[in-house]
Amino acid sequence: CGIVGYIGNGKAQTILLNGLKKLEYRGYDSAGIAVYDGSRLQVRKSKGRITDLEDHLLQSPLFGTVGIGHTRWATHGKPSYENSHPHSDTHGKFTVVHNGIIENYLELKEMLESKGITFKSETDTEVISHLIAEFYKGDIVAAVQQAIRLMKGAYALAVVTDYEPDKLIAVRLASPLIIGAGNGENFVGSDIPAILEHTRDIYILEDGELAVLTREGVTIKNMNTDEKISRSAVRIDWN
Ligand code: GLU
Repeated sequence: CGIVGYIGNGKAQTILLNGLKKLEYRGYDSAGIAVYDGSRLQVRKSKGRITDLEDHLLQSPLFGTVGIGHTRWATHGKPSYENSHPHSDTHGKFTVVHNGIIENYLELKEMLESKGITFKSETDTEVISHLIAEFYKGDIVAAVQQAIRLMKGAYALAVVTDYEPDKLIAVRLASPLIIGAGNGENFVGSDIPAILEHTRDIYILEDGELAVLTREGVTIKNMNTDEKISRSAVRIDWN
């Protein structure tokens, strides 16, 4: 339902939580974030309100400057802790948040299960994190591209891996996603309000586009051909 992502030098936990609160108006049944803590990805999630997630984070805060967050509106699998996003692969090396529906997830799930992979949730989303892990050979962009080649449906995705923690990958197909350009920091959001308090310079992703965010910049590509796309930022002047 709602996506926010951050890469920079600020406190990811705070930026992600604030972004998720800005997306609350869209409705949701659970919320979660993943932050890279300097050595690995840490996930905190919670069924229910963002304030429940916040309470959880007060007990065990996440320190780091890269991360992704999600508010879920369940389509596949009941609202629960396990079904909340972010979703990870078996070893917790890749985390994914997803808006939309993977129509052929059952087929993909069976294929992955036949390779010995055990699923932790009932969501369609979890196949994405396992697919990326299966395809990863040292290049996160290539792994995401191979994974989405197998996926049918609608998706906006944000992905981080602790193998390449200086990158955040965003993909859009039939579900909105925007990039916010900052100074030494960049943002992703399913909706402009999620990041508007940080930047007013926005790149609007189009269907079939993949973006690679680093602290220094944003590269937009065709998700299938890998061809670079030049896009000017739009300046948002409303509040
Ligand atoms: N289909 C996914 C799920 O049920 C994502 C739902 C959403 O867009 O929040 O977990």
